Amino acid sequence: MDCLFCKIIAGEIPAEIILEREQLIAFKDISPKAPTHILVIPRKHIATINDLDASDTNLVGKMVQTAKTIAHACNLADDGYRLVFNVNKFGGQVVFHIHLHLLGGRTLNWPPG
Ligand code: 5GP
Ligand code: ZN
Repeated sequence: MDCLFCKIIAGEIPAEIILEREQLIAFKDISPKAPTHILVIPRKHIATINDLDASDTNLVGKMVQTAKTIAHACNLADDGYRLVFNVNKFGGQVVFHIHLHLLGGRTLNWPPG
């Protein structure tokens, strides 16, 4: 399968890895959109949030819990931060392996562009 994030998981493409767990990893976004921009991804290849099934509920919960833990570790918790899943074309998804964006370190605009 030709998936960029599966290759990062396999160590075939380098990334600045923040944390590794049995079911997921977190690494720095190569093109950060905020002072802190980290991606949390499952080791399991799931193309989009549309492709989640009921058995993935726990996995997605772990992704959110991990993002929360990283946000605390990066001192973002009190000021605040944003967690985002982009989905398909209108959502701006370009890598088709689900990833939770953790963005922080500045005020983030709402609504998004
Ligand atoms: P999407 O738009 O699919 O939600 O987000 C994909 C993210 O992956 C983008 O923020 C982009 O900067 C990041 N990205 C793309 N290629 C690489 C890469 O090779 N390494 C890392 N660390 N991040 C990447
Ligand atoms: Zn993948």
